[in-house]
Amino acid sequence: MTVWIDADLCNGCKRCVKTCPYEGVEMRDGKAHILERCTSCGACIESCKQKAISSDAKPREIPDFSDRKGVWVYAEQREGTLHPVALELLGKAGELAEALNQEVSAVLLGDGVAHLAETVIRYGADHVILVEDPCLEQYRTVPYTDAMEMLIRRFNPNILLMGATHIGRDLAPRISRRVAVGLTADCTELTIDPHEKILLQTRPAFGGNVMATIANRYSRPQMATVRPGVMEQKETPGKKGDIIPENLSMSEQDIPTKVLEIVREAKKRGDLSKAKIIVAGGRGVGDADGFKVLENLAAALGGETAGTRVAVEEGWIPADRQVGQTGQSVRPELYIACGISGAIQHRAGIVNARYIVAINKDERAPIFQVADWGIVGDLHDLVPEMIRQLESA
Ligand SMILES: Cc1cc2nc3c(=O)[nH]c(=O)nc-3n(C[C@H](O)[C@H](O)[C@H](O)COP(=O)(O)OP(=O)(O)OC[C@H]3O[C@@H](n4cnc5c(N)ncnc54)[C@H](O)[C@@H]3O)c2cc1C
Repeated sequence: MTVWIDADLCNGCKRCVKTCPYEGVEMRDGKAHILERCTSCGACIESCKQKAISSDAKPREIPDFSDRKGVWVYAEQREGTLHPVALELLGKAGELAEALNQEVSAVLLGDGVAHLAETVIRYGADHVILVEDPCLEQYRTVPYTDAMEMLIRRFNPNILLMGATHIGRDLAPRISRRVAVGLTADCTELTIDPHEKILLQTRPAFGGNVMATIANRYSRPQMATVRPGVMEQKETPGKKGDIIPENLSMSEQDIPTKVLEIVREAKKRGDLSKAKIIVAGGRGVGDADGFKVLENLAAALGGETAGTRVAVEEGWIPADRQVGQTGQSVRPELYIACGISGAIQHRAGIVNARYIVAINKDERAPIFQVADWGIVGDLHDLVPEMIRQLESA
């Protein structure tokens, strides 16, 4: 495929030079010139207002997806309890479906999980595709992937949303590979393009320094994962929906893995994504003992403790307490950030906090840009004083 310039039409505006992501265009004698490193991506052609750039590439055709209908949410459940992210996704799915004039379906897989159908309907599902099979009693990668693949091929959904939980992070890429579609992980926003009616999937990129919006024009379903706590649940009491039971004839003999024993985590802390009050610490806390003081403040307020990646790397808090781009997204009423600088990757996890209080020695710390109240001072003096005042109140 070749790209060429009509020198008579080129007015030397350099728009194509600036647009080319591969530095494949340069100016020579006031005219654009295509270099060997051109990848024929076509970005320069779209940018040229003079219509001076042409290519012999045939424009890629967008397949006819008129038979692909419905916004699906994978209704993740464990031992008969729905994961909150499923309900959060149903809220967003409702908005997307409305923009597309389509309907929302929840996909409920398991054994003895039919009682959950009523809840997913109340939170936004118009239909519940229910597969109950002993092979699906415990989550296992292969049977769950098989089941989702069969359902996708049977129903041809337009969009599939899944939670970026441990299970979702395992299952979503498998499904996308099986049905040969792309997958945008850890989206923070999902909308429908009003013209093309495709899913616009926004997520942080390049270490959180830019927000990238990704769209998939050429395959279906359009697949995205979203972390727990990012989207809002919307409950509609009395909402009606129907249950579509599906039999997938699964056989234990076809599954290479068996669950022999379930070993539960000994210590179960509160769920950060549901916490109303979070006291979080960063490098400024200094050590693990410093975190014990934060725990006392959290206990006095009836909240949870969390921290930055630095606090996790230092071993002061467990990894499941990390807030931020590569940790959890939280939406508490109150987030108290102690000794946290406010790096963009940390802030990505607290955008949905209602109120942020920041305690930092450095008045120029970026956390103060997003804080509702800022206290410039030493947390080692301030936090014990806060505990004292709370206890005497
Ligand atoms: C791809 C990528 C993903 C990342 N993901 C995450 C993520 O998910 N979560 C995350 O948190 N980070 C993440 N990071 C790391 C992030 O860039 C920052 O390095 C990190 O958030 C900084 O942590 P901190 O605020 O604890 O430390 P620092 O930036 O070192 O800040 C410490 C702050 O404490 C203050 N301080 C010191 N002593 C005191 C005191 N006695 N009293 C009061 N204040 C004091 C200082 O003034 C300073 O502002 C990621 C980075 C990358 C590149």
